[in-house]
Amino acid sequence: MQTIGYAAKSSTAPLEPYTFERRALRPEDVAMEILYCGVCHSDLHTARNDWGGDTYPIVPGHEIVGRVTEVGAAVTDYKVGDHVAVGCMVDSCLHCDQCNSGEEQYCREGMTQTYGSPDRQSGEITMGGYAKHLIVREEFVLRLPEGLDLARAAPLLCAGITTYSPLRTFGVGPGSRVAVVGMGGLGHMAIKLAVALGAHVTVISRSPSKEGDALELGAHAFLISSDADAMAQAASGFDVIIDTVPVKHDLNPYLPLLDVDGTLCIVGQVGPMDEMVTVPMLMGRRRVAGSLIGGIAETQEMLDFCGRMNILPECEMIRMDQINEAFERMDRADVRYRFVIDMASLDAA
Ligand code: NAP
Ligand code: ZN
Repeated sequence: MQTIGYAAKSSTAPLEPYTFERRALRPEDVAMEILYCGVCHSDLHTARNDWGGDTYPIVPGHEIVGRVTEVGAAVTDYKVGDHVAVGCMVDSCLHCDQCNSGEEQYCREGMTQTYGSPDRQSGEITMGGYAKHLIVREEFVLRLPEGLDLARAAPLLCAGITTYSPLRTFGVGPGSRVAVVGMGGLGHMAIKLAVALGAHVTVISRSPSKEGDALELGAHAFLISSDADAMAQAASGFDVIIDTVPVKHDLNPYLPLLDVDGTLCIVGQVGPMDEMVTVPMLMGRRRVAGSLIGGIAETQEMLDFCGRMNILPECEMIRMDQINEAFERMDRADVRYRFVIDMASLDAA
């Protein structure tokens, strides 16, 4: 089926309208019309080939909310008209130990990403959610809880699950002391989710102007990362730190903030970090960890949790043709706190 979207044709070109083919419906597939798509910093990294290995043209977008338009003969869980969602993965081997335990993102054979991955059956490169239509196998389609605002739900599919998963994995619950480094799309979701899980939450940011918003979103405290005195006073004060900074940076100021046995979990920077001094790790059994999105079952759990607790991202709605400006603003950390593309704007254009 032919569809229209926005693609980057090279790592230096702006995104532009792009007509392309979606695969024919397979028996296990769900076809959807995309209603909304969030704009993740990973989309920008990919469009610019920050991580290397990208092929062009590429249609980014992995925070997808849509309406089912057709289902394959073997689909049992979805029907035409259902509101559904798709995140960062669209397939995996579905039989290794990781897939069997609901951690498809760590599939031993490598998951298929929503964009930029070869399809497991045809080898075609997957294209993401900055488009009008999408076809995904049923196992990777999520159900949106009833009543959850469709437009604002989109960023849950990456920013939501990427922060929910480590919060759960590292045991955040009532009374946990959590710090969130970097208050952007992921960071602001980490605040909301950690607060909802009962934690005492501190934001660590470079941007004094975000303090008011942080407290409004439920954070209990705000630390400016360049304020050496405040950072020193916060020593040994956290059980978990979620680090969402999207670029290479120095972890050494953050490690002493962990209490004994605390964990600093990196979800932002993909690639090298500044040299790390191990002393605070040894002297307090502090850990540095990483985490990649979350599995399908956990993503559904997070969506249901957000539905129950009425947790929604803070969104700025944009038209598809504003995507290049949105990327530039994201680069300057000028996002409060997630851009969401209204896909109806593609028709209008
Ligand atoms: P974002 O909305 O741009 O937010 C990043 C925040 O980090 C900014 O708002 C800013 O917060 C801080 N920041 C930005 N540039 C910085 C710099 N040069 N030095 C220090 N702090 C800086 O990005 P996002 O969508 O949340 O994504 C964050 C990162 O996570 C990206 O690298 C993305 O690719 C990655 N990611 C990873 C996963 C995963 O599965 N692990 C999933 C999704 C995204 P302050 O103004 O508060 O300092
Ligand atoms: Zn993402």
